[in-house]
Amino acid sequence: MPKPKIGFIGLGIMGLPMAKNLLNAGYPLIAFDLNEKPLKEIIQSGAQRASSNSEVAAGCDIIITMLPNSPDVQKVVLAEDGIIQAVSKGQILIDMSSIAPLVSQDIAKKLEEKGVEMLDAPVSGGQEKAVSGTLAIMVGGKEQTFATCKPILEVLGNPVLVGDLGAGGTTKLVNQAIVAVNIAIVAEALLLGKKAKVDPKRIFEAIKSGLAGSQCLTDKAPRMFQANYDPGFRMKLHVKDLNNVLQTSQALHNAMPLTAQVMEMMQSLIAEGHSEVDHGGLALFYEKINGVSLKEE
Ligand code: NAD
Repeated sequence: MPKPKIGFIGLGIMGLPMAKNLLNAGYPLIAFDLNEKPLKEIIQSGAQRASSNSEVAAGCDIIITMLPNSPDVQKVVLAEDGIIQAVSKGQILIDMSSIAPLVSQDIAKKLEEKGVEMLDAPVSGGQEKAVSGTLAIMVGGKEQTFATCKPILEVLGNPVLVGDLGAGGTTKLVNQAIVAVNIAIVAEALLLGKKAKVDPKRIFEAIKSGLAGSQCLTDKAPRMFQANYDPGFRMKLHVKDLNNVLQTSQALHNAMPLTAQVMEMMQSLIAEGHSEVDHGGLALFYEKINGVSLKEE
C-alpha cells in the first residue's frame, strides 16, 4: 500500500527536522509555514510547496501541525481561511504542538462534525531528539486513530497512547512542570557549590550517575558552564506551558507551589529581555540574586 501523504504546518525549531524525517522515511509531504526560510528548506528536501494552510489540508491524507500555542492552532484550524474549510471526511489531524487540553478538545469536536478525527500528540526531547527521530510523544485520542497514525509517529519518536483526546496535552503539562522545577534546582544547587568554592563541573561529574542525576542535569548543566543559552526551548514557550499548567491546576483546585515559583522566576527573566533564551537560562536568575556565575573561568 502506498504511504499516506502528509501535510505539515509549522516548520520551526521542532517542525522542520520532524518534517525532514518523514520525507526521509518515504512519506510524500506538502508543507506550509508563514516563514519563507524553513519552507524553502523543506521544498529543497523534496516536499511540495503549499501557499496556505488550507492548501495543505486539501492536498493530503494526514495533517500534522507543530505550532507555538493554543491561539495559533485555533487560527490555523478554525479561522475563516483555516484548514477546517478544506478538510474532507476520513482525514486525520495530528496536532503535535503543546497547547491547552481544553482547546484540543474543542477543536476535535468541530473537526468531528466534518468527519475528521484528531489526535493531540505533544512531544518532549527538544531539537536534538526532533532531529534524531527519538522524541517522547504523548498521545490522546481514539485507539483506532492512534493505530492508523502509529507508523508515522514512530518515524518521529516513541508514541504512547495515554488516554482520550486531551490526555496527550495533560501529560505534556505534567512533563513541563517536572522539567521547569528540575532545571531550576540544577541551577540553584550548583551555584551553592560555586559559592562554597567547589568547581560545579566536578560536582556535576561526581553526582550525575547518582540519585540526583536526570536528563535535565545532563543536558542543561554543561550549557550553564558555558553560559550557552541559545535555544533549544525558548523561555517564552516554557512560560506559555506553565501558564497552561497553572490554569488547568487552578480550575481543578489543585496546588502546585513549586511550579508557581519557577513561573515567577521565568517571568522576571522575560521582563529583563530573556524571552528568546533557552529555558536553561533559569541559571541567569540565580546568578543575578547571588552575584556569582556558573560559567567556567
Ligand atoms: P517555533 O516558534 O520555532 O516554530 C513555530 C513555527 O510555526 C514557526 O516556523 C512559525 O512561522 C509557524 N507558524 C506560526 N503561526 C503560523 C500560522 N498561522 N501558519 C503557518 N505557520 C505558522 O516553535 P518550536 O520550538 O518548533 O515549538 C513548536 C511547538 O512544540 C510548541 O508548542 C512548543 O512548546 C513545542 N515544543 C518545543 C520544543 C523545543 O525544544 N523547541 C520541545 C518540545 C515541544
